[in-house]
Order: sequence, then C-alpha cells, then structure tokens
Amino acid sequence: MSADTPLKTAARVACVAPSPPRAVFDLASTLDDVVDLTLGDPDLPPPENVREAACKAVMAGRTRYSANAGLRELRQAVAADAERTLGIPVDPETEVVITVGAMEASFLTLYSLLEPGDEVVIHAPYWINYSQVVRSLGATPVFVYTRPEEGFRLTAEALEEVLTPKTRLVILNSPNNPTGAIIPEKTLARIAELAFERNFAVLSDEIYDSLVYDGKKSSSILSIPGMKERSVLINGVSKRFAMTGYRLGWAIAPAPLAAQMTKMQENIVACAPLPAQYAAIEALSPRTDASFIREEFQRRRDVLVQGIDAIPGLKCLPVPATFYAMADISGSGLGAEEFVYRMLREVKVATVFGPAYGGELYRNFIRIAFTVKEERLKIALERMGNFMASLKS
Ligand code: PLP
Repeated sequence: MSADTPLKTAARVACVAPSPPRAVFDLASTLDDVVDLTLGDPDLPPPENVREAACKAVMAGRTRYSANAGLRELRQAVAADAERTLGIPVDPETEVVITVGAMEASFLTLYSLLEPGDEVVIHAPYWINYSQVVRSLGATPVFVYTRPEEGFRLTAEALEEVLTPKTRLVILNSPNNPTGAIIPEKTLARIAELAFERNFAVLSDEIYDSLVYDGKKSSSILSIPGMKERSVLINGVSKRFAMTGYRLGWAIAPAPLAAQMTKMQENIVACAPLPAQYAAIEALSPRTDASFIREEFQRRRDVLVQGIDAIPGLKCLPVPATFYAMADISGSGLGAEEFVYRMLREVKVATVFGPAYGGELYRNFIRIAFTVKEERLKIALERMGNFMASLKS
C-alpha cells in the first residue's frame, strides 16, 4: 500500500509487532502431525454443568445485550468470589466490570488510565500483550528483568531501581506467564509500601491463581490494606474453568475508574457475550468443582519436567504454577529462535523462543505450554530427545 493511501494504519497500530507465539502457532498449523505446545489454551472441556448453562442460555433466548458492566448476578458472583479468596469487600454495583476475556479487562484498564509519556513497569519475562498495548497508547513500558538463576523471582529492590517520577502503573502477573513464578507475600508487601511512597497504581493480573501446584497458593496485593484503592485486579474463567473460547473475564477496580471503563465498554463491545456470562455464573457457583483441571495440569507438569530433565542438554526450571514451563536449551548450542524453528521443522514440536517474552536475557530458554494430553506430551518429549541427539551427531 503506498504511503499516501487513506487506509494507512495509525502509528499506534503500526508500532505493535506481530505476536511471536502466534507466528510459530500459524506456521505449525501449516505442517502435518505437529505437537503444538505454543499457546496457553487448555485442551480440557469446561465442567459439564457450565457447558449446559451456556447451551440453556442460547436455547432460552437469553442472548441479547446486558448492561455494559455485565449481568448483575455475574458481578455479584465475581464480588463474592473475590471476597472469599482475597478477604476484601467488593461492591458488585460499582467495582466490577465484566469483559470479553481478561485480555479486554487489561486493555480497558490501560486504555482508561494511561496518558502518553506515562511509564509502566512490567516484570520480564512478560505476557506480550502488556507491552504492546502500553506502547500503542503512547506510554512507555519499562522492564524489570527477573533472572532464570533466581527462579525468575521478582524482587522489590529490582523494581524500585526502575521507578521514576513518571511511573504511573506497575503491572504484576503472579503466577506468571511464561515462567510460572509466584511473587512471594513479603515482596508484595514491600511493593505495596513503594506504591504508597512513590504514588503508583497497580494492575494485578491473577488469571493463573487457580493453577498453583503442590498444595500451595498465590497471594494478591489487593489483600494488603489500602491497596484495593490503588489497584485493578484482572481475572476470568479462561484458565480456571478451561473456558478460553467463551471470552469472559473481569476487572475489579475502584468505583471511579470502573465507571470510566464501563463507559468505554459501550464503545468497544457493549458487553461480554450473554451465553458466556450465564456460563460464568454457573462456573462460579458452589455447584461447580473444577479441581480436576488443576490436578490434570499438575500431573502433566510432573511428566514434562521429568521428561525434559531426562534429555541430555536440556534442563527444565521448576514450575510451581500455570501450564507453562521454561526449558534451558543452552546445551543445544543454538539460540532459542533457531532452536524453535529447527525443532518445529525437523521433529514437528512447536514451542516459543524465550526472547519473545523480554529479550536476549532469555535467549537460552524456550516456553513449553503443556496444554496437550499426556500421550501427546510424551510423544513431544521423545521427539525433543531425538532432536537433541541429532544436534550432537
Ligand atoms: N493474562 C495473562 C497473563 C495471560 O497469559 C492471558 C492469556 O493467555 C490472559 C491474561 C488473557 O486471558 P483471557 O483468555 O481471559 O483473555
């Protein structure tokens, strides 16, 4: 397209690079018999009663628009769920916005908060959407790099070093995509102190809080007194109930911000899809037991970590949560990008290269999403072993 066409894209869109996980996924889908470990899309079905609730809503014609903030009954369910898990009061009338996935919740938050020139601190490795949206809004992502040798654990000291008078927002993602790392409670407490001292807001993306293994739990910064008033909590049903395609999430935000987000919702999607809202009400009800999802991913985690560690030249980092593992591929002698594309072409296993999530510090890592059945995971491990052996010979 020539430069003077009226359809030239705006700079705020042109500055957004295509997502590398999607690029590998797209290439993988053109090849036969690939074991695809690229996307964080669980292969399990949602609990049966949840699927039934979605079907019932469709058949009963409960398929019109809802209020921009979402169905009152769903907002009440979200507020009750947050009160139970975080121990904080949440007003369903003014503090909950139901969105099209956690993705839209995080977009709406950033869109409603940021001014051009604001700095937004993001801990790396990070979920790519944050930096893309921040850049697109003319704000500046500032990265604080966590290190593989420290289990990718964020420290408050490292975060403090990158704060400036322009820091408007800190994004926390715990448990983290792509590393599975959990921010310890003590670190959250120190970050909260910094938030008061340096006057920044927090976006806390806790979409993986139900996928914490070995009987442990993650903590939320919103549970710390005073933090709810300067934070936005992002969550949804995608990972907890294996409902990615329902596209249903939410934000819990202080009332004035939630009101602005709700106003913008009318201009973006009006409301989240109604059958998905009804399904989410059922998912959050006491009738739903989704513990099988965590149990299944914990079993797969064990298979994957042991399997990777058994392959000469590969080493898996511990995976305390999520369905992602970071594997150290330095023993291959290849950079992560070359490793990923060669492994895809030569043995048909698709993964994502570490630098996609935060640059060269992660060049020795690939992210593996264990969102396929155990048999397929075992096939992937065998193929990865063959690939590593072929590099040696
Ligand atoms: N936040 C993080 C950290 C994610 O990894 C993802 C999806 O992979 C999302 C949010 C988006 O979730 P949803 O499907 O609810 O939009």
